[in-house]
Amino acid sequence: MKFAFMIHPISKESAALMDLDFDGAMQTFWGVDPLSVCAHLHGAVKEARRREGDSSIPVPHVVDEFKGLTSQLGQITEGRLYQIPMDSMSILSDPDSALRYLEQAAEMAVDWGAEIIGLGSMTGIIGGRGTYLAEHCPSAITTGNSLTVYAALQNLYHAVEELDINLDRETVAVIGVPGSVATAVARLLAPQCGELLLVGRSSSGPARKLAEEVGATLLLDIPQALAAARIVVTATSSGSCIDQRLLNPGTIVIDVGVPTDVQGTEAQRDDVLILTGGLTRVPDTMGRDSKLLWFQHGMIPSCLGETIVLALEGRAENFSLGRSLDLDAIQEIGGIAKSHGLDFSKFTSFGHPLDDSTLIRFHKARARHRQGRSSGASAPSAIERLAERAPLLHARHINPVVMALGGASNFVKTFVRGEGSYLFDAAGNRYLDFIAGFGSMNLGHNHPAVVQAVSAALQSQAPGFIPASVNPFAATLASELISVAPPKLEMVFFGNSGTEANEAALKLSRIATGRTGFLHCDGSFHGKSMGSLSVTSNPEYRRPFAPLIPDCEAVPYGDFHALDRALSTHRFAAFIVEPIQAEGGMRVPPKGYLREAQALCRATGTLLIVDEVQTGMGRTGTLFAVEGEGVEPDVMTLAKSLGGGLMPIGAMLTRRDLWLNAYGSVQKFALHTSTFGGGSLACAAGLAALRAIRDEGLAANAQARGAQLQRGIAEICQQYNCVKEVRGRGLLLGLEFQPVPDHICAHWRAVDQTGLMRFTVPGMDQAIKTIHVLHAMQTLLQAHGVYTQVARSNPLVLRIQPPLTISEGEVSQFLSALDQTCAEIDYSTGLIDGMIAKSSIGQHDASLHSDASAVSGQSVTSS
Ligand code: PMP
Repeated sequence: MKFAFMIHPISKESAALMDLDFDGAMQTFWGVDPLSVCAHLHGAVKEARRREGDSSIPVPHVVDEFKGLTSQLGQITEGRLYQIPMDSMSILSDPDSALRYLEQAAEMAVDWGAEIIGLGSMTGIIGGRGTYLAEHCPSAITTGNSLTVYAALQNLYHAVEELDINLDRETVAVIGVPGSVATAVARLLAPQCGELLLVGRSSSGPARKLAEEVGATLLLDIPQALAAARIVVTATSSGSCIDQRLLNPGTIVIDVGVPTDVQGTEAQRDDVLILTGGLTRVPDTMGRDSKLLWFQHGMIPSCLGETIVLALEGRAENFSLGRSLDLDAIQEIGGIAKSHGLDFSKFTSFGHPLDDSTLIRFHKARARHRQGRSSGASAPSAIERLAERAPLLHARHINPVVMALGGASNFVKTFVRGEGSYLFDAAGNRYLDFIAGFGSMNLGHNHPAVVQAVSAALQSQAPGFIPASVNPFAATLASELISVAPPKLEMVFFGNSGTEANEAALKLSRIATGRTGFLHCDGSFHGKSMGSLSVTSNPEYRRPFAPLIPDCEAVPYGDFHALDRALSTHRFAAFIVEPIQAEGGMRVPPKGYLREAQALCRATGTLLIVDEVQTGMGRTGTLFAVEGEGVEPDVMTLAKSLGGGLMPIGAMLTRRDLWLNAYGSVQKFALHTSTFGGGSLACAAGLAALRAIRDEGLAANAQARGAQLQRGIAEICQQYNCVKEVRGRGLLLGLEFQPVPDHICAHWRAVDQTGLMRFTVPGMDQAIKTIHVLHAMQTLLQAHGVYTQVARSNPLVLRIQPPLTISEGEVSQFLSALDQTCAEIDYSTGLIDGMIAKSSIGQHDASLHSDASAVSGQSVTSS
C-alpha cells in the first residue's frame, strides 16, 4: 500500500539546525566556537537557497520519494513527500489557505495511488488536527501523533531505566496542554509519576478539565513549572519556550516540540539531560536516501513513522485525529511499529546521537545532587545554592552580552570555589586557572595566610572605615611596602583598584609639576575611569567616552627617539608606562627602555609613573618589574595581588618631596582622598600577601616556572602552524597565534553573499581572523579544564599567567593540553581547507586574496 506525507518548507533557522554536520568531524573539532557556527552556516546558506528555490513554486508538489521501504517483517511500502508552499508561520496565520493546499496535495496523492496520508509538523495541527481533511478527502488520514506520544514516552522510560530513577517519586511537568500530544502524555503519565504539573497558555476549558481529570496542578508559567520539576515532557507548537538555565540540576527533558521547545542548538549544561523526543529509528532494512526527512543516523519523526507503519500494515483507516487521542491505539501502534523494526531506544540530543560520556556525566551530576539533597552533611553550600540561578541573574542584571556571547558555548562558567591553582564549578569540575584574575591571584586562590589574616582581622573586631583617623593596618602596610619599593619612594596613597591608583598618580603629577599634559604609549592600559582611560590607548575603549581629559598624547612603545621628541616639548607633567604591556598583548620593550625613559624624564622635568598594577607583586620574577633594571620611578602604582586575591586594594607610591609639593599644606592635605582607601581588611590582606610572596619565594618560582613555560611553548611553536611566538617575562606570558590564512577568510566572505553570517555573528569579519585564539581558549577550557583568556587589545594573543604558586607538574599539565589544542587547530584548518576544496564557493575570490590558497593552508608558517 502506498502512502503520502505532507510537509511544508522549514524556516531558515530550522534548516541551519538540520543541515549541520558535514562529516561529524567538524562538530567534534570546532566544538561550539564561532567558526563552527560559520561552518554550519555555510551549509545552511546553501540549503536555505536551495529550499528558497523549492518554495518559490506556489503549488503543492512532490519533493521526494521513498521507494521500496522494506520492514523487518518483510512488508514493503512506498511513499511520496508532498510539500505545500507555505511555511510554519504562514500556516498558523492563514490556516484556510493551508487547508486548500493540503486538499490539493491530497488529491494529487490519491491520483498517484496513496491510500493513507500522514500530516507532518504544522499540517497536522490546523483543521482540527486532521479531522477536516479526513472529512474532505477520499484517502485515510493520520496526524501520526499516536506514535509520537508512544516514542516520547519510550524515550522517557528508557532514560529513567538507564539512570535508575523511580518515576513514581518524581515531579513531572508536561508542557503544551491541551495539545493532543501533551494531553495524551499527561493521561498516560498521571498514574505513574509522583506529582504531575501541567502547563498551558490559559486556564480555561480543556486544560483545566484535563488537570481535574488526571489530578494534576495546572500552571500558566513555564519557569514556575521548571523550578518544581525534575522531569519535563514538552510538546508546544511555539518553540524555544524553555530556557536551559532555568532547569533544576538533574532534570531530564523530553522535547517533542517542532520546532524544538528548548532554546539553543546544543546542551549548555552537564547536569541536565535534554533529549529530542518523538523520534523513531528506522530499521536497517529501509533505505535512507531521502534528502528532506531522513534525519541523521536513520532517525525520523514518529508522525512519518506512524504513516509508514499503517501503510506497511495495509490499514487505510483514519488514525490519531483530533485533540483527544485514543490511549489504547497509542499502545497498539507502538507495538506494531516495534514489530516492523522501528526502534525507540536511541537517545538523540540536539540532532546528534547522545554519547555515553554525556549520559555518565549527567548520571554523576544527578547522583551528586540527590546526595546533596538527602544528606545534611553534603548539602550544597550557600554559594552553590546561589550558583544555580546566578547565570540567569547575571544575564538579567549584570551583563546580558557576556552571557549571550559565552553562555551558550559554556565558556562563561559559574565558579563556586577556588583553591590554589584551581577553580571549581558547582558540579565539582575543576579548572586549572591560567589567567589568575589578570594578575590579582598571584598567591593562588584562598591562600591560607591571607585567609587567616583577614579572618583574624575580622575576629579582632578591627574598625572598618573611619575618616581622619589612624588605621594600624594601613600604616603598617604603607611602611612595609615602602621598605621593599624602589629607592626614593616614601609616601603611599591607598585606594581600591588599579585605575584609582593611576588616577592618584595623574592628579599628583599635575599638582606637583604645574603642567597639564600626560604622555603614554601606544598599546597601553591603565584603567577605565576617565583619567586612566585618557592615557589608555585602545580606541575601542576611548571612542565612546570622548572627549577625554585634554593634553594626553601617545608615543610608540619602546621607541626612545619618539619619547625624546615628545618629552623635549616640556609640556608633560608625567610619562606613564607599563614595564610590560599585558592587556596590549604581552609586549616587552627593548632592554634599557625604562632606564632611558627615566633619564629623559629627569632631563625634561617630567615625572616617570611606572604602572606595576599587573607586573608587580612578584609576577615577572622580581617583586616589582622595575627591579634589577636600575629604574627609580617618581611614582609607582600597585593593585591586583596587593589584596592577596581576596580584598580590593590599590596603592600609589611616590617621593616625599612630590607629595609635599602636592598636598603638604593645610589647604591641600585632603585634596585627594577615598572613603574606603586603607580599610582594615584590605590592608590586613596586603600585609599577609607581601609576607607570603617573600617567605614562599614566589617571585623566584615565577622565574623558574616562567622559564619552563617559555621553553615548552617555544617547542610547541616550532611544531604547529597555528602559533607564532611566546613572549613576556616570569609568569606574565602571551602566546601569539597566526592569523587565520587569507584564503579561508576570503572563503567566508564569499560564502556570506546573503549577509546571513554577518547578521548572525556581529563583528564576524574581524573575529574570523583571530578565531584560532578563541578556538584555543575554548578547547583548553572544555577539553582540558584549563582556564585562559585572550588579550583584549590584541586578540591574536592568548594570555598565560597562572598563580605564582603553580607547580612544575601543573605547568607540564598545561603544556600537554596546549600541545593537543594546537594539534587540533592545525587539523581543523586542514578540514576547512578540504571543505573549501570540495565547494566551489569562494575559490575564485580566495585565489584573488592569496596565492597560498593553492597550497591549502601552507601560507601559515611558524616562526
Ligand atoms: N593598569 C594595568 C597595567 C592593568 O593591567 C590594569 C587592570 N588590568 C589596570 C591598570 C586597572 O586596574 P583595575 O581594573 O583594578 O582598575
